[in-house]
Amino acid sequence: MAFSPEFIDQVRQASDIVQVVQASVPLKRAGAAWKGLCPFHTERTPSFNVLPAKQIFHCFGCGEGGDVFAFVQKRQKVDFVEALKQLAERAGIELPDERQDAGARQEQERRRAEEEALRRLLDLAGAWFRRNLEEGAEGAEAVAYAERRGLDAAARGRFELGYAPADGGALLSAAKKKGFSAGDLAAAGLVVQGERGAYARFRARLMFPIHDPKGRLAGFGGRVLGAGEPKYLNSPEGPLFSKGRLLYPWALAKPALGKRREALVVEGYMDAIACHQAGLEHAVATLGTALTEEHAKLLKRYVDRVVLVFDADAAGLRAARRAGEPLLAAGLEARVARLKGAKDPDELLRREGPAALEAAAAEARPLLEFCVQAGLAAAGERPSPTQRAAVLADSFPLLARLASSSEADAALSAAAAAVGVSPEAAREDFAAFRRGEGRRPAAVPVSAPAPEAAAAASAPEARPPEALLLVERELLALLVAHGELVEQAKEELGESLLCTPGLRAAAALLWRAPRGVVMLARDDGSEDFKAADALLSDLSQRRLSQLAPPQESLKDILLRRQELLLEKAVAERTLALRQAGTDQAATSALLKELQALKHAIHELRTERR
Ligand SMILES: [Zn+2]
Repeated sequence: MAFSPEFIDQVRQASDIVQVVQASVPLKRAGAAWKGLCPFHTERTPSFNVLPAKQIFHCFGCGEGGDVFAFVQKRQKVDFVEALKQLAERAGIELPDERQDAGARQEQERRRAEEEALRRLLDLAGAWFRRNLEEGAEGAEAVAYAERRGLDAAARGRFELGYAPADGGALLSAAKKKGFSAGDLAAAGLVVQGERGAYARFRARLMFPIHDPKGRLAGFGGRVLGAGEPKYLNSPEGPLFSKGRLLYPWALAKPALGKRREALVVEGYMDAIACHQAGLEHAVATLGTALTEEHAKLLKRYVDRVVLVFDADAAGLRAARRAGEPLLAAGLEARVARLKGAKDPDELLRREGPAALEAAAAEARPLLEFCVQAGLAAAGERPSPTQRAAVLADSFPLLARLASSSEADAALSAAAAAVGVSPEAAREDFAAFRRGEGRRPAAVPVSAPAPEAAAAASAPEARPPEALLLVERELLALLVAHGELVEQAKEELGESLLCTPGLRAAAALLWRAPRGVVMLARDDGSEDFKAADALLSDLSQRRLSQLAPPQESLKDILLRRQELLLEKAVAERTLALRQAGTDQAATSALLKELQALKHAIHELRTERR
């Protein structure tokens, strides 16, 4: 639901930050500010400040801060819209949709009628697909394929499987007899309008109906029989079908989820079906997409714990880490199961039976522990101090999502111990991460002092490029969310390259897709594309700061980036200066450059104020 800036302002005006904070955090007056013990980290002396004049809060201990909406978001672990609703309710301000005019109600009515029509068409298509599976030579071939995949008649009935014939016009003529047009079918995502007319989106595929959380048919997934690309094809995103909100097979899994209070999350529908066939009915699959906050919220209504069943390789680690953030943010316990001797649950079940998968799920390790161990394993036999600090830093986004600060603190200590970094240094780095500096890292491993860290300590203004990395990720996250800014950002960046090959590839993908619509970019099947696509989808799930209009955020990010680039240049010159020794000419040239750079930084900072 979109709220007008006027409404947001009205709520802001009516919500005094001191009163709002005081409802849950005792505050004492101290001059112009109010002070208290920070609710976001554990402390004995108050470093949490609320400034009524500016209507903001700030903690000097952990760096949390923001306006009244940010406070409610962080305190209640809710999104901006929910915080807005809570504050509106507190202030007795009616939400706009409750006093909407007749026109808006009519519009809503019209949309509902449209969705109803789409559903009728989907139901019709589902029945038609099912009939096609049981009839004719093509259907027999599809049945034979299904049988080879372990889907007997009972399973085909239970999962309501169907078959979309190779003839691209067959569905269209069947639907026309029932009074539907090509336009109706296109709206339902069942046909594609091509140059030579409309043809079926799904052809020669085994069809899996996909239901929404209310149990209504929302769309289809189709698996190609035998070889062919793409292997899996889903209904396109539309009013009914939204991958980020659907889990498969939801309707069949729901009762088991409620009973076991646990979900097994697998990567594809064949895996989910294999689990259900083996009696593990609490298994659900995402539809070829990363687990989203919507998924996590849906699961949270039925379960306390989610076991992620992903491959134990680097891709699996990435997937687990990506899925972990929304799960932890929703307050769910997240675990990762490793499959031994099988590439996926389907294979494991075939080879060793349900008990093996049950055992893997029972032995699943907490997500954070899994990520740290996998990170260490990836770093090789003897990880360097820098590598160990980096493994620890990789867990920060997950730690930051934990519901309580005491929980985060305990998890941080455990992670620090696992990688061999002192708890103090770990806490310091984590606090820096929360402040958004992404500063890397004072963390000196307990066992071996790092020469790099010592060098960094003697040149305090020289921030390593991790801060740059964070800003550039933020830039891409903004552009993913606001495609309209892509052209401008591209122009402003000009020849300036982003700081890692991964970010550059992701940016290139963004530039290629018109107005930042990433889904329109064509998959060229390369590893680069996959990595860039994964990074962008990762970034698309980051919560953006809602405080500034996107245009202003872009400007701010670009200025911050510029500043960091200058700082990086300063650090490089400073190092060179130290190495120049007695070379007078080199020294004076470097000093001149340094002066110019520092001047530029000063100017930039003035502009940012
Ligand atoms: Zn704090």
